[in-house]
Amino acid sequence: MPVSGLGPYDPNNIFARILRGEIPCKKVYEDQWALAFHDINPVSPVHVLVIPKGAYVAFADFSATASAEEIAGFIRAVGTVARDLGLEAPGYRLLANMGEDSGQEVPHLHFHLFGGRKMGPMLTRPLT
Ligand code: AMP
Repeated sequence: MPVSGLGPYDPNNIFARILRGEIPCKKVYEDQWALAFHDINPVSPVHVLVIPKGAYVAFADFSATASAEEIAGFIRAVGTVARDLGLEAPGYRLLANMGEDSGQEVPHLHFHLFGGRKMGPMLTRPLT
């Protein structure tokens, strides 16, 4: 089910449980600020999620309330993961869903890294 609006952070969302080690993940990177792991239902040969370690629902609360260190750490981690996965030369798509209209399903901020194939158009047409 898509996330509706940006309510308070739910500490029992699935990514919070992964961060606490309650649910396993196929980890590809971890540092003080971020965790990256393979998406459980990949839509491209490389489909990795990068999440901040802090409790943020989406970009709105992250950008407004995270510390400068957290923001820098998270953004740097996204770049590191893309580089480590060998995606810089062929290219990749970075995407993040925010709230209901986007179809965001998990209410913990996450960036999708898609790679390993031509991505095609960003959105389908027509928009009806
Ligand atoms: P979004 O629709 O942007 O919120 O994306 C949520 C993503 O999380 C989807 O691509 C799911 O396949 C993925 N996902 C859900 N549960 C897990 C899990 N336990 N481990 C890895 N990825 C997951």
